Amino acid sequence: MLVVMERGASPELVERVCKEIEKMGLIAHSMPGAQRTAIGVTGNKAQVDSDRILTLDGVRDIIHVTQPYKLVNREFYPEDTIVDVGGVKVGGPELVVMAGPCSVETKEQCFAIAERVSQAGAKIFRGGAFKPRTSPYSFQGLGEDGLKILAEVRDRFGLKIVTESIDTETLPLVAKYADIVQIGARNMQNFSLLKKAGKAGKPVLLKRGISATLEELLMAAEYIMAEGNHDVILCERGVRTFADHTRNTLDLSAIPFVKRNSHLPIIADPSHGTGRREKVLPLTRASVAVGSDGIMVEVHHQPEKALSDGAQSISPDMFDQLMAEVRSISAVVGRKVT
Ligand code: PEP
Ligand code: MN
Repeated sequence: MLVVMERGASPELVERVCKEIEKMGLIAHSMPGAQRTAIGVTGNKAQVDSDRILTLDGVRDIIHVTQPYKLVNREFYPEDTIVDVGGVKVGGPELVVMAGPCSVETKEQCFAIAERVSQAGAKIFRGGAFKPRTSPYSFQGLGEDGLKILAEVRDRFGLKIVTESIDTETLPLVAKYADIVQIGARNMQNFSLLKKAGKAGKPVLLKRGISATLEELLMAAEYIMAEGNHDVILCERGVRTFADHTRNTLDLSAIPFVKRNSHLPIIADPSHGTGRREKVLPLTRASVAVGSDGIMVEVHHQPEKALSDGAQSISPDMFDQLMAEVRSISAVVGRKVT
């Protein structure tokens, strides 16, 4: 349920309405907007007695939100959420590119890649220090040593860092080093991890599960927001289908659906979404065209030697080309890339 306050309702009035809602055993989330404040109400098991709230001073209207996701719902919060990552704004007029290797391997590797992607215009550096691998015998990541390398990349190149947390044990460590904590596809419904990410004090990049519906994705984001963290960025990274010409099927229609139903930003990952280097550029073009707020792409200076996801990693030269095309297509759809 959404309580819409009168235009110009004072903070004291909003506070009083929140208290009244809480007295009814519900949770009130005050959401100041440009025009007026709205108060999201969650925690109700059944329909709330809205008459009692409607009669309170300063209340203009009540909207019942029928979808199960509330805080992430655009009906709850009509304006686009812009996630501020230390000055890099995701979800605003600017299209943000995140690039880097699948895994942090060495300092030399990260510096070689960071130098090229930052020159080309990436604002955020990606790289996993903790890797969720299908096989226990595959490279599992450098752990904290990898996080330290990422911190050096930030210092040296001025890039923000996005890196994955794979479990609740190491989440505080990852959050200490990262500018954005990534929750991977395999963990999209790891509810204890989602709750902890909601309290980690850092923006969260939440990737869509391998066979998750969009309602499930939005409900996963709801877990994070319900803990008080409103800085959530969603990511379409492809789902498993019958198609076997790609690793996953990048579901481009997810982007306009999410933009319509949620105020949260959503980016596309055409690397995991295709699994093949030569398909990354065409699917990047399409992602920008359908309104993605950003792109996350795997880049490696020696893709053939990569310790993970080499087949889908593009070279720095290919990344230059990708950025040039992202710039031209962004302009057509009213976005900019600085
Ligand atoms: C990754 O970003 O390297 C990754 C493991 O992604 P996903 O969770 O989408 O598979
Ligand atoms: Mn990867």
